[in-house]
Amino acid sequence: MTSSGLRRDAGPDGARVVAMLRELADLTSDEAGAQRVAWTGVWQKARAFLREQLRGLPVTVRTDAAGNQWARLPGGGSGVVIIGSHLDSVPDGGWLDGAYGVMCAVEVLRSLAARGPLPCPVALVEWADEEGARFGHSLFGSSAVAGTLNVAEVRELADASGLRLGDVVAEHGVHLDRLDEARQEIRGARAYLEAHIEQGPVLEREGLPISAVSGTVGVERHRVTFRGQTAHSGSTPMDMRRDTFLAAAATALAVRESAVRHRGVGTVGAARLRPGIVTAVAGETAILVDQRHPDAGALEAMRGEVRRAAEEAARAEGCAVSWEPVFQTAPQPFAAGLVDVVREVCTELTGHARVLPSWALHDATPMAGAVPTAMLFTSSAKGISHAREEDTPEDHLRLGVEAFYRTVCRVIARSAGGDAAG
Ligand SMILES: [Zn+2]
Repeated sequence: MTSSGLRRDAGPDGARVVAMLRELADLTSDEAGAQRVAWTGVWQKARAFLREQLRGLPVTVRTDAAGNQWARLPGGGSGVVIIGSHLDSVPDGGWLDGAYGVMCAVEVLRSLAARGPLPCPVALVEWADEEGARFGHSLFGSSAVAGTLNVAEVRELADASGLRLGDVVAEHGVHLDRLDEARQEIRGARAYLEAHIEQGPVLEREGLPISAVSGTVGVERHRVTFRGQTAHSGSTPMDMRRDTFLAAAATALAVRESAVRHRGVGTVGAARLRPGIVTAVAGETAILVDQRHPDAGALEAMRGEVRRAAEEAARAEGCAVSWEPVFQTAPQPFAAGLVDVVREVCTELTGHARVLPSWALHDATPMAGAVPTAMLFTSSAKGISHAREEDTPEDHLRLGVEAFYRTVCRVIARSAGGDAAG
């Protein structure tokens, strides 16, 4: 026994995690990549694969009112420690995004189950629809559990074929009117811990296999629409145009400038021109602007700068501009005490105490608002994710499993000691 009351054991098998991930990829990918889009048959196949991996463990497996799968390992006392991630992918996605964290959690459960009675319960969660690939709404299951999902807003969302979210999730046993019931899953929870690939190039660039994560950055998304005058591309003199695309293009440059100035990121990922033909000056152009920063003040400054730049660009081109919020989330710092645990473990294993912000959102983002939360990152080869090229060196994946296991053990031990992990 250790001082925390947990028996020592052989620990987790990182190679088994890699083997499970390869098997899952074989089951749910085609030549274009992973196809585990939420609320589809392939996704259900992935979830059945998870249940198979859990078979034989002393866990209760069930699905909550929001469609999240839970596997609960009993332990003494109250205050469950929750570990997990998501199995859904974007279309043509990678083999590790989300699935790595779920399979890490399976292996941790297996190791914990082998070491005898636990001082507190531990639950694996596999979140439903993290990516929002089909309906454009990310973090469905985790935000339902955290109590931040706007049901009225998601009810009417439709996929590319016009099917409504409310109807599709009902086919998977999720009823929007009962979604609130999912909130009871985290009542009294001590901690939420998630392992994930970085999905960016920072760890690889710094030669590090793993790191702690300080939190997720704030995100501001807006649709900016410029309205001018559609006119003939040939017969309209250059000085008599009200060209909305030029105003949008100038705004896109300002998005980049502002992001560089504040050391944030900014993207114009979509533009729609009307009428969108080569023989007409575009009378209307709408762009989608995504801006991110770990600091709320800097994010606010970036948003203000781009808004002023859009107004100036519109004026210069004789256009009107409107600015419509699409999505917004504040920077979400993780629980300092838990981030310290992850950092300590990473330092033990690598000799480095690096802590990175996450520039992508995760299920840990809504969870951090409800339960003390932390994350562990594993490097991403070339920083590529959401693509079939997504990869991580196998030794980094295995080290991440060990680091995640040690983190969970330490958090459980702290829970047993009555030391809140905030
Ligand atoms: Zn993910």
